[in-house]
Amino acid sequence: MTARTASLDTPETLAAAPATGEPTLDPADWGALRELGHRMVDDTLDRLATVRETPAWRPLPDAVRAEFRRPLPRQGAGEEAAYAAFRELVAPYPLGNTHPRFWGWVIGSGSPLGTLAEMLAAGFNANLSGLGNAGVEVEAQVLDWMKELLDYPRDASGLLTSGGSMANVLGLAVGLDAAARRRGIDLAGDGLAAAPRRLVLYGSRETHFSVDKAVRLLGLGRSAYRKLPVDGRYRLDLAALNEAIRADRAAGCEPFLVVGNAGTVNTGACDDLVAIAEIAARESLWFHVDGAFGAFARLVPETAPQVAGLERADSLAFDLHKWLHAPIEAACLLVRDAAAHRAAFQVGASYVTDLERGVAHDAMRYADLGPQLTRGFRALKIWMALAAYGADRHAAVVARNVAQARRLAALVDAEPELERLAPVDLNIVAFRYRGGAAADDPALDALNRELLMRLQERGHAVPSSTLLAGRFALRVCLANHRTRDEDLDFLVAKSLELGRELAA
Ligand SMILES: *Cc1c(COP(=O)(O)O)cnc(C)c1O
Repeated sequence: MTARTASLDTPETLAAAPATGEPTLDPADWGALRELGHRMVDDTLDRLATVRETPAWRPLPDAVRAEFRRPLPRQGAGEEAAYAAFRELVAPYPLGNTHPRFWGWVIGSGSPLGTLAEMLAAGFNANLSGLGNAGVEVEAQVLDWMKELLDYPRDASGLLTSGGSMANVLGLAVGLDAAARRRGIDLAGDGLAAAPRRLVLYGSRETHFSVDKAVRLLGLGRSAYRKLPVDGRYRLDLAALNEAIRADRAAGCEPFLVVGNAGTVNTGACDDLVAIAEIAARESLWFHVDGAFGAFARLVPETAPQVAGLERADSLAFDLHKWLHAPIEAACLLVRDAAAHRAAFQVGASYVTDLERGVAHDAMRYADLGPQLTRGFRALKIWMALAAYGADRHAAVVARNVAQARRLAALVDAEPELERLAPVDLNIVAFRYRGGAAADDPALDALNRELLMRLQERGHAVPSSTLLAGRFALRVCLANHRTRDEDLDFLVAKSLELGRELAA
């Protein structure tokens, strides 16, 4: 291993300079690079095709970690050596989220076609600011398809983003800008200091921490964000929302925004979005929905009612790299009021002047809708996946995960040594090994912590963890199109086996 990676620094194996001797990044020998590229494709598809036969995860050995501390190469070792280093040092140690028994956090599986589409997008290497290239239309179509899929108004604005966190940050930025303007505050010109009353916003305490980050980035201050209690199913307590708005107004604050959840990260809970939309309308609040993965519950008849109302959001954020399985990164923000979206970000500069025709026609079409100027062609992988598999196959993938979550919950409920710790609304099952212990036995937290680490380190499966009512829970999130029912049987069997081993 070391011998081969050492070749990265070994002058004898330097790639030949390009024939012309010019400094370019094109290969000296296109035929050799083409052959290498074919091998890369073969190896990648082989890995995906046989992933079930590999451990769900394996830790990175120290010797491999040490290889990443080498100094900057002044002389390159050539394309072959660079790929050999990838094969040796990177490829064997994935996160595991392409594996059928990866259920940690909320991380999609990607897809083989998506992988190839990423390569095509990189080859196209266009800038999706809006500058003239067909990718601009691909992104527009993906946004239109998302509106159609989620029953969102067709004249809404939108933008593909890196992830759900960024979509939440941008949604809140638009919401703040628009809400301020409606209150006669020129946020762009005068900043938050121009607000005569403290601007405050609401969400349940189960809301994702990307909203906390947005609150910080936007300069609102942590104390402006009222984290409200939830009911027994982890949904925003509507009475608490109404009361908080009343109390804030009485105290001289200015409520401006409420976040609703379509699928919380802890338990998959869905707030009553219809009721929140009504409160928001009555109280003149911007209604932002975080539908990171849960928005796609809309595609399944059994779960669609839980996310009813998301189409009423002023801004709707959701990931495409979670339950739609676009290779990481991809997410989407939709904004009902297209003018408000643009107004929140548009700046303008002499070097990006729109011309009537040519490459610079509508040059800032997307760059005016978010903070990024140069933007990647992430739309292609989603466009191709929808073209290849259609909305129905994607819906079937989501539906299968929902059915699997219900099945796993039933398996857990049927095992006296296991205990479920939360209701299963969408695709998340939280449970722990309890054995014969009392529910409040404090040793159970440490036992389940150890159980989880062993499940992962032995490569059996990758659930993640959370705390529910103060208890350490194994958290299984089914956002994986490779999982089969037998994988969940295996998880239950291994949890019992490890639980008994640890309890003994
Ligand atoms: C994952 C997630 C996010 C953040 O999305 P990223 O793509 O990880 O940035 C936000 N909200 C919820 C509910 C999530 O599950």
